[in-house]
Amino acid sequence: MVTLADAEAIVRANLNTLPVVSVPLKDARGMTLARTIHCDIDVPPFARSMMDGYAVRSADVQAAPVELRVIGQVAAGATSDRVLGPGEAMQINTGAPIPGGADAVVKVEDTTVSSDGAAVTVNYSVPVGKAICPRADYVAQGDVALDRGDTLGPEQIAIAATVGAATVEVFRRPRIAVLVTGDELVAVDVTPVGGQIRDSNGPMLRSLLTDAGAEVIDLGRVGDDRDALVKRVREGLGYDGLCITGGISMGAFDFVPDVLAECGVRVHFRKMSTKPGRPTLFGTSESGGWVFALPGNPISAHVGFALLVRPALAMMQGRENWPTPRRAVLRGQCGANGQRQSFQPARLSVADDGRCVVEPLAWRGSGDPFGFRFADVLLMRPANAPAVEDGALVEVIPLRA
Ligand code: AMP
Ligand code: MG
Repeated sequence: MVTLADAEAIVRANLNTLPVVSVPLKDARGMTLARTIHCDIDVPPFARSMMDGYAVRSADVQAAPVELRVIGQVAAGATSDRVLGPGEAMQINTGAPIPGGADAVVKVEDTTVSSDGAAVTVNYSVPVGKAICPRADYVAQGDVALDRGDTLGPEQIAIAATVGAATVEVFRRPRIAVLVTGDELVAVDVTPVGGQIRDSNGPMLRSLLTDAGAEVIDLGRVGDDRDALVKRVREGLGYDGLCITGGISMGAFDFVPDVLAECGVRVHFRKMSTKPGRPTLFGTSESGGWVFALPGNPISAHVGFALLVRPALAMMQGRENWPTPRRAVLRGQCGANGQRQSFQPARLSVADDGRCVVEPLAWRGSGDPFGFRFADVLLMRPANAPAVEDGALVEVIPLRA
């Protein structure tokens, strides 16, 4: 039996970063950059107006109100080769290039235009540079736009698009097979009879994996049948990783650890001193892939995923930050903890006084998925921790990335 800290160290030591691939930006959501992206142009590429209004010479409007001649218009996407002379203004739209001679923009609300549009009265003076965004104000050509290690969320995708990164060099998505075991399991569209239950771990794991950036290979369900298991496990070992649920406890039909050994998997640990999640196995195969075998109980499987599988997937994709627990103020109570480090579903929120507050949620043990309905963190209690009261500082681990 290993502690969670030991388990983390073992997993980390046995992971490799995946190869670098070139991916169209539109397909790179959630992937992590393997190379720095530099700006190919100045941003913005020209001095532009930040307002709808009139481009003017600041010196002309110091004695506002003052009337100027409107000599033309410049819309976004257009350019103007007219140069503003003394007493002249040009109508301009947000995002349009500043015409030559102009050094400020007066917003339309601060002007009164003549009925024929040929003249505009500027009602307030503006300083040089007013409402103008200079060329390269944000970044200049050649500057770093995004760094190696940055993950491409919507914000980073907007930046990549701005600087012309049509394809990006990222760490490949992990290809992870999912195998669900248990004679009792039926599919979601089947009404269970006798001792059957519906498989919820398969759908859960596939969605957890997708959220963690993996490409999922569904190996389906297999009964508690040694030969069938061997066949599917062999297939699963052909990928970067294989996630199995069920069949690793102490029951007469819990064949998974033996089958893994038979398939040449080197088992690094098969029990963890956590609650839930004691039967959690990690192994590696000769082909370079790994295996996580998680308990069949849905919550134990979910906790095992949050504690080990998601961080492992992140590391393979070049994100080196193994999650560290964060502290929050307990709302409610926690009894004394036993010998195993424990995790329970909880909800994190920000209280009116600005403190981060965590509230344990009612649940009926590791077979009960409904306790996780509103959960966003795991409330972690160290081994042998004493009971704590409302207001105590406790540690939480995010359930989602
Ligand atoms: P096991 O780890 O195979 O001993 O299973 C532990 C408990 O989890 C048993 O009550 C199983 O019926 C249940 N279980 C196993 N696999 C699944 C699954 N895929 N979906 C939902 N419950 C499961
Ligand atoms: Mg089972």
